[in-house]
Amino acid sequence: MTQVVTTIDEVRALVRTWRAQGDTVGLVPTMGYLHEGHASLITRSVAENARTVVSVFVNPTQFGPNEDLESYPRDLERDVALVEKCGADVVFHPTPEEMYFPDRCTTVHVEGLGKELCGKSRPIHFDGVCLVVSKLLNITTPDRAYFGQKDAQQLLIVRRMVRDLSMGVQVVGCPIVREEDGLAKSSRNTYLSAEERAAAVVLSKSLAAGRAVLEGGERSAAAVCDAVRAVLASEPLAAPEYVEVVSTDTVTPVERVEGEVLCAIAVRIGNTRLIDNFFYNPNE
Ligand code: AMP
Repeated sequence: MTQVVTTIDEVRALVRTWRAQGDTVGLVPTMGYLHEGHASLITRSVAENARTVVSVFVNPTQFGPNEDLESYPRDLERDVALVEKCGADVVFHPTPEEMYFPDRCTTVHVEGLGKELCGKSRPIHFDGVCLVVSKLLNITTPDRAYFGQKDAQQLLIVRRMVRDLSMGVQVVGCPIVREEDGLAKSSRNTYLSAEERAAAVVLSKSLAAGRAVLEGGERSAAAVCDAVRAVLASEPLAAPEYVEVVSTDTVTPVERVEGEVLCAIAVRIGNTRLIDNFFYNPNE
């Protein structure tokens, strides 16, 4: 039976009981409106840990002033049913007031990595993510925490934060779960009209073209980006925000693909901003 808890004290008490029994703990941080992408993380955590906590929290500190904090989709009842089906123990669903003191003055900032890619149009986003993830890790003290490669920059930043601050949790990256036509599953896909939903397939198609260029032996990042952009240009409803090939170490653009890279895109389809990516290592 999945238990829903709303206070930090309740989660801590549960984790204490589990620890006393020698149980391992997995954490899956989410903003809710769960889909199969989230389910893959939860299922993996359930398989790898005796206990799993799924947090469902639309974190206000990671939204900019003109972003979709208010309209972000929410459905706790459905989320709890999905978490239960996956076999997790607890849904942690705090209010913003439970998570944040009005006079809080501590920030968590990963220098550099958060300024690139999505950081250019969402300047406060990754600081907000680091703050909430730090808090969730402090509250649940898990052995492992699960993050999707769907949000690849987030995954790289969280890994760096955990390393730099000796947080002692294992960060587990999980592959992107996609719709049948290739669109990466996302809670924000619900914003798309039928016409936009059909157009959104262009994201994964464009990345497939970029990957094909790399697999053909090309090592120029510009050539990869050109191939991606050409496919995106074929869809009139798609307005690319960025198309980049970056180092997985620094998240800065590379000229040539020599070590592991992340090829990442952000594209507006109508009013909805979608992201997608792939990792590529020419030496593997
Ligand atoms: P969100 O609720 O969008 O903040 O996502 C919570 C976690 O689920 C993050 O680590 C995401 O990267 C991950 N996630 C979201 N969508 C997918 C997907 N399609 N495939 C794999 N992981 C995902």
